[in-house]
Amino acid sequence: MKPRKLDLPDSLPQLLLGARNIVVLTGSGLNPASRLPLCRDGMRGLWARYDADALATEEGFRRDPGLVWAWHEERRRRMLLAAPNAAHRAIATLSDRVPGTFVVTQNGDTLHERAGSPRILHLLGRFDQPRCAACGMPHTLAEPPAKPSWHAPYPEPPACRICGGLVRPGRVWHGEPPQPEVWRIAKGLAACADVMLAVGTSCLTPAAAELCYEAMASGARLVQVNPNPTLLDRVATHNVKGAAEKVLPLLFARAWPAG
Ligand SMILES: [Zn+2]
Repeated sequence: MKPRKLDLPDSLPQLLLGARNIVVLTGSGLNPASRLPLCRDGMRGLWARYDADALATEEGFRRDPGLVWAWHEERRRRMLLAAPNAAHRAIATLSDRVPGTFVVTQNGDTLHERAGSPRILHLLGRFDQPRCAACGMPHTLAEPPAKPSWHAPYPEPPACRICGGLVRPGRVWHGEPPQPEVWRIAKGLAACADVMLAVGTSCLTPAAAELCYEAMASGARLVQVNPNPTLLDRVATHNVKGAAEKVLPLLFARAWPAG
């Protein structure tokens, strides 16, 4: 099916063509086209009886580490089954057009990697990169089971090979700031950007909103691609209302029509 024609202002492809450094800030709006849940939508089925505080906070982890670990493992399993969609692929091609393109994603999956984007920063961590809750040592995971087989009582998370502490999920907790090194790099990228392209993110995470403001304060233009209103609509240079997997291929084809 041919996608609906988008009403894009001429200045938007021109803006991309003139950019040397583009930060593509992505969020869970990229998920549905890969059949992954939105970030506020992850507690379905087996997990529907739990809330985010039980599954994705430090307090929840202290209360029931096995439950929190099992939920993150299920998300890792689903991420490995998912495939990149047209938005991930379009963003990967943008790196060919503009070598100074950097993806900063709030998603914990590896779909940008699998789509071929060469420079990716995971602002909020990755499902497949857990670390020791006590000493911070990265922990290498075995392959997840082919089917979910978790039922209470949930087994404890693995133990750290260095200090014996509990291994925690690789994602930051709800309300937890990014890892300091990741945050330092993200702010540096935002400060150097000509264009901040915020895709499928409502920027409700304080770190995501701060990056957009940081970029704009340093002279970048903010372009949002989102079907829904966001907190940054009023300050963005362009707001393109639509799903990323529909908008981005058309937008980039408009900027670089030669293919
Ligand atoms: Zn440790």
